[in-house]
Amino acid sequence: MIIAVDGPTASGKGTIAKALGRHFRLPHLDTGLLYRAVGYQLQLDGGDPDSEADALAACNFPDELLGHPGLRSEATGGLASRVSAHTAVRQALFERQRTFATQQGGAVLDGRDIGTVIAPDADVKLFVTASVEARAQRRWQEMNDRGEEHSLEEIEQDLRRRDERDRSRAAAPLVAADDAVTLDTSEMDKDEAISKAIEIVNTLTGQLPCP
Ligand code: C5P
Repeated sequence: MIIAVDGPTASGKGTIAKALGRHFRLPHLDTGLLYRAVGYQLQLDGGDPDSEADALAACNFPDELLGHPGLRSEATGGLASRVSAHTAVRQALFERQRTFATQQGGAVLDGRDIGTVIAPDADVKLFVTASVEARAQRRWQEMNDRGEEHSLEEIEQDLRRRDERDRSRAAAPLVAADDAVTLDTSEMDKDEAISKAIEIVNTLTGQLPCP
């Protein structure tokens, strides 16, 4: 079974995808991490994120980089959003994601274009979303817990910028697949969102009668 989980930044898609992987015993790939690694490597190389050639060269990042804590920072997220707009970068990362998706036994992948480009054949496609205010509040809380000080307005503006870039780019824009089920987590806490996602997967795969 392939489960595709797409959605904007801080919608809860990563948490949901990880939980689905645990619940259904499927390996999980956070594809945002690949784009973050490209952004981070590009910075190490002193490259320009808006140059397709520089961004493509950074796709040769070493695998060990995927565990680097620097990948989780807001700054790296911003760089990832810029390098991910290049078609050559998306092509360079395609095979790795496709191979993961089609492995024996199935997989869960989360990102922006899993249901549309990487695994249009996925058995279940979830599009996880939430209002920009709810997402900014969550991001603010996470940063606050880590001791990072940012204003809510600053975070909200940054989310809007990234949403706009991810939605308007020509190459694999962030968009729900026609056959995706939308899950709006604005009013849900983490456990509710996870339960709802499990229920959707069970319903779609026929393991339970439809509610
Ligand atoms: O999900 P995450 O915030 O880690 O992703 C970082 C950036 O990488 C996103 O803003 C998006 O531009 C890009 N991305 C993408 N396609 C994916 C996953 C992430 O374009 N499948």
